[in-house]
Amino acid sequence: MAADRRGFRLRFDWNLFAGGFLLVVAIAAVVLFSQPSSAASTVPLFDRLAALQRAYPEAVKAIELNVVVMADGSRIEVDDGRQKDHQGKLAAADIEDMLSQIYPIGACDDGRPPERNFDPGRIRNDAIFRALYGATKEAAAANLVSVDWFGSKLPFARAGGADAALRAVVKDLRADPALKTYLVPSAGTFNWRAVAGTKRLSAHSFGAAIDLNTKFADYWLWSGGKAGNVPTYRNKFPKEIVDVFERHGFIWGGKWYHYDTMHFEYRPELIAIGRMAEARGCPRS
Ligand SMILES: [Zn+2]
Repeated sequence: MAADRRGFRLRFDWNLFAGGFLLVVAIAAVVLFSQPSSAASTVPLFDRLAALQRAYPEAVKAIELNVVVMADGSRIEVDDGRQKDHQGKLAAADIEDMLSQIYPIGACDDGRPPERNFDPGRIRNDAIFRALYGATKEAAAANLVSVDWFGSKLPFARAGGADAALRAVVKDLRADPALKTYLVPSAGTFNWRAVAGTKRLSAHSFGAAIDLNTKFADYWLWSGGKAGNVPTYRNKFPKEIVDVFERHGFIWGGKWYHYDTMHFEYRPELIAIGRMAEARGCPRS
């Protein structure tokens, strides 16, 4: 009797074990094969913060536990611990939110639009931008230098070597005269202003972004899009221009779900993180 009961219990336990094992395999398969293609989870936050420090070595003094210490003495919280949806991140980004989407490097040739709410670089932490470039319009303006843009003088930021990067972009773009029509006249660099329809400061407020020729521009708001719901994606700028800007530390607004195809923004930390993640080509989350 006792032996029979033990035998029954052994068989029962084996069945439970086998069933559990199959469940674990099934869950593992789902997790493994549903990972985002841009390898977004492969660069730990610590490495993203290290990239931020390397990108602005004069302005970012140290990375401490959950704090970025700036050379001006300000201390900026990395993660405020709040859960936010995409619009919430855009409205009140901490540093962790700002670095949460990995910008992919290189041209996207498949013609598909960016994935919904994939806006790498569009999420900006206001405090670090003000600490890097100037906290007020006057302070930001005082930090600008002149860069020659195909014969016109444009004011541009210096932090992290932004002005030198833009000069390097010009040098490379001059190699192909056919590109000039897309580049001039520039629709502007420095302009202390909020992003259209928001209270958030644009990267133009700090002189760290350049808009190319509006004649070729497509912008999600002009196309009738609403925040979080962009119906059509279009781009008329050649990928050669995007490649040159990225090579020198600029991201392109044409890779955003909320697209802005004439917009290039100096974000060497995001280019570095994209390279670390080996995130290439199409903007996918
Ligand atoms: Zn712009």
